[in-house]
Amino acid sequence: MARSSCTAKKQTPPAIWASSPGTLADLIVRCQHTELLGRLGRIGDRLGTRVFLVGGPVRDLLLGRESPDLDIAVESRARQFCNAVGLELGGRTTFHSRFLSGSVTTSVGIRLDINQTRTETYARPAVLPTVRPAGIEADLSRRDFSVNAIALSLAPSSFGYLLDPLGGRHDLQVRRIRVLHDRSFRDDPTRVFRAIRFAVRLGFDIEPGTLGLLRESVHDNVLARLTPERVLYELRLICREPLVLPIVEALIRERVLRAVWDWTPPKRFLFGLCRLVQHGAEPELLFIYWLSFLPVTERFPIRREEQEAAGWLNRFEPVREALVRSSRASTIYRLLKPIPEPALRIIAAVEPGASARRIRDYLDRLAQVRTELTGKDLKKMGVEPGPHYRRILDQLLYARLDGKVQNRDDELSLCRRLLARGKSG
Ligand code: ATP
Repeated sequence: MARSSCTAKKQTPPAIWASSPGTLADLIVRCQHTELLGRLGRIGDRLGTRVFLVGGPVRDLLLGRESPDLDIAVESRARQFCNAVGLELGGRTTFHSRFLSGSVTTSVGIRLDINQTRTETYARPAVLPTVRPAGIEADLSRRDFSVNAIALSLAPSSFGYLLDPLGGRHDLQVRRIRVLHDRSFRDDPTRVFRAIRFAVRLGFDIEPGTLGLLRESVHDNVLARLTPERVLYELRLICREPLVLPIVEALIRERVLRAVWDWTPPKRFLFGLCRLVQHGAEPELLFIYWLSFLPVTERFPIRREEQEAAGWLNRFEPVREALVRSSRASTIYRLLKPIPEPALRIIAAVEPGASARRIRDYLDRLAQVRTELTGKDLKKMGVEPGPHYRRILDQLLYARLDGKVQNRDDELSLCRRLLARGKSG
């Protein structure tokens, strides 16, 4: 796949490749969780099940990269294993019998995802698979890419040995993403997103045969069968990536979202995304920004706040015009107050010039301004409680924003004037 200039550069494979398989124990010693992994293997041994570290953490360990999570596979007795781990490590445990998977968050905050090894069969393209318990080899062959299909044994008798029946280590060495069979993208088209995400993140190529299959699945419209929920899950993951921009560029180049929702972004989309990344915007902001360009329907499983913020991004034009015309602090405040903060932070990063400056000033300063008088003070002054409290306090706030009142005494005298005017009016 042609890669953009932003894509990670190829790196030299780590020295571990020079070692013989017999010295793989070296590898696990480098892992910061060696002690913990040893305990997991021993717990499995006691319960009579083999335990493995699998997927992402093994891939990252072999590449010498940090891995955020620990994915553990057990060949049987997953529930008992989960409970025993929770008991021994003193952590919080969950287990879902339906998915044969659980998690333990240890008392020091390390999260272990624990899965029973399984096969997955797909009744139709793009639907969720039927899951059945199976051994580790079958479990590795139901995975997405060879580099994610390597297991590292944690059993005391074979601790640190790799199980790599599908050539994952070789693909890591030659730095490529490869699917395990020709139907892979059809079975689960979310793998199209994953292939591009991993390729860019790791600076790998997508192996030519795999790229052909990916393009075929995009062309044959299997992606349109994915539910919005599954697609949006992938978009959220992409927004969390440090190299989000080249990933999105690759998705556009491969016409992936055109195949899903018939969506082709306007030019300004990438420009804005680039500005947000340059400003160090959090993943959630990138996601809301992206959402504002998508053909959102009521079937989209998004939070109300996300939908509201994305909606404001599309309705900002009249506010922008008013904003550029006004320099009075209270007017700027009133214009921007109804708009959710995430939307404002996005606009401030994306917009050039005066409106962005005013939004930044609002966020950093104006939104923090408070009156000294409160409803309690009005009550003490003998004002009957009611909706006019809000009106009076708003007037005090606007006067403060515009520098017309500076302190409590100023506010008190303005308040008295407002009350007198209210009575006479
Ligand atoms: P990350 O580094 O982003 O956490 P990961 O490789 O750990 O990546 P996860 O999404 O956490 O990926 O999934 C864990 C493992 O489950 C993967 O390594 C892969 O083996 C398998 N997997 C995840 N999604 C799929 C999928 N759609 N199809 C097949 N296997 C998958």
